[in-house]
Amino acid sequence: MQQPIVLVAVVAGLLIGSFLNVVIAKAPERRSLIHPGSACPQCGAAIGWYDNIPILSFLALRGRCRACAASIPWRYPLVEAATAALFAAAALTFGPTLEAVVIAAQLAVLVALTAIDFERQLLPDVITLPGIVLGVAANLATGRVPWPDSLLGIVVGGGLFLVIILASGGGMGAGDMKLAAMLGAFLGWQVVLVSILLAVVFGGVLAVGLMALRLRSRKDPIPFGPFLAGGGAVGLFWGERMVRWYLSAFPTS
Ligand SMILES: [Zn+2]
Repeated sequence: MQQPIVLVAVVAGLLIGSFLNVVIAKAPERRSLIHPGSACPQCGAAIGWYDNIPILSFLALRGRCRACAASIPWRYPLVEAATAALFAAAALTFGPTLEAVVIAAQLAVLVALTAIDFERQLLPDVITLPGIVLGVAANLATGRVPWPDSLLGIVVGGGLFLVIILASGGGMGAGDMKLAAMLGAFLGWQVVLVSILLAVVFGGVLAVGLMALRLRSRKDPIPFGPFLAGGGAVGLFWGERMVRWYLSAFPTS
């Protein structure tokens, strides 16, 4: 029976997603996550628990502050729904295991970084650097990726971006490099390479598409973090299969 564990995963995902919204709003400014409590950024009115229920409160309030009617960003319900969906997928894929919990924690970090990069075009060190430690610790706990592969992943992921930054002279930032290093810790050096390849392909296709449709010019930067995070999430779910596919598509011998 998988329904109970999926239900648990969805509820946990909604609650963690709600917490991630606080992280997304406050971590880039290095504000405390706890004090002060939730308040409307427009009018400062405190937000009661009944107006802070994931997704449901947004719908009940029709996306507006109860006190001043300022609109609540769509990011709030989207982050909650995305986290719940990813946690459910982790529960379905990995079952009731420590591995599922570890994958869910790593996915939560990727959701927060994606939203922050979309909103502010930055990937804060206060998330990526502890994320590197989380990746190594998680793999030590589960044995999912052998720890030497995890450590080497930090060097390979971060090093590849260091080379890209030096060669391109802009476009990619140090934040992308630290995110790639974090993915290396999560995934190990083999899978992180495939995840970065996926990110480059999808990011490139989208950038060319947006320019072709004249929605963006060459001058408007498109944050790369969300693509890296997406490639990383694919790696968390299908990493081993991706490496096998990669080796068969591009034989080394
Ligand atoms: Zn308000």
